[in-house]
Amino acid sequence: MRNARVWRAVLGVDEAVVERVEFDEDSRAVVGHVRLVRATRGRCGICRCRCSGYDAGEGRRRWRTLDLGSRPAYIEADAPRVSCPKHGVVVAHVPWARHGAGHTDPRLHRAYLLKEGLRYVFAVKSEAGKQALDRWLSWARRCRIPAFVHLAKRISAVRPHIDAALEHGLSNALIESVNTKIRLITRVAFGFRSATALIALVMLSLGGHRPALPGRIDPRIGQ
Ligand SMILES: [Zn+2]
Repeated sequence: MRNARVWRAVLGVDEAVVERVEFDEDSRAVVGHVRLVRATRGRCGICRCRCSGYDAGEGRRRWRTLDLGSRPAYIEADAPRVSCPKHGVVVAHVPWARHGAGHTDPRLHRAYLLKEGLRYVFAVKSEAGKQALDRWLSWARRCRIPAFVHLAKRISAVRPHIDAALEHGLSNALIESVNTKIRLITRVAFGFRSATALIALVMLSLGGHRPALPGRIDPRIGQ
């Protein structure tokens, strides 16, 4: 499956193969269909020792995992039974059913996904970035992590500025660099008699204005 490594990380199933991921219309949830790798198959659910298979148990089973954004997410896999010499017939061990395994701290994991989501907004930029930011904000507002709720509020308050930055790729860094160059030109311009000459020099140097000079052929036109 494409992006299998990403899905393994997102679903928190390190020792398994993600066969496919689907959106289940009935439960309005994301479901990752997963198969265990050989090394973790056929182990006792209590002591994890390698056992012989018993039967298919109740067939496929779903385990709730961490939500993906606003959607609940499940891992779906076979849940066969094994015959343990010590514990008898028990449901086979699955790595993700361990207490908190793979998803150590749900809040931390959610915070990580939120952080990555915000990075994505600024990586794609333009219209796609704005739409991603809309989705991110509605997610962050409801995430119950105070730092992100607060950040979502602050982003909403300055949203027009962020949209402008996403549209034009402008940032404080660019503005600061232009300011520095203008200060330099101002030093050079100390001998000028009026501010108009200074402004003209700034416009010429940084404004992208290229007036045609008398007697010169515009190199852009050629000849
Ligand atoms: Zn056992």
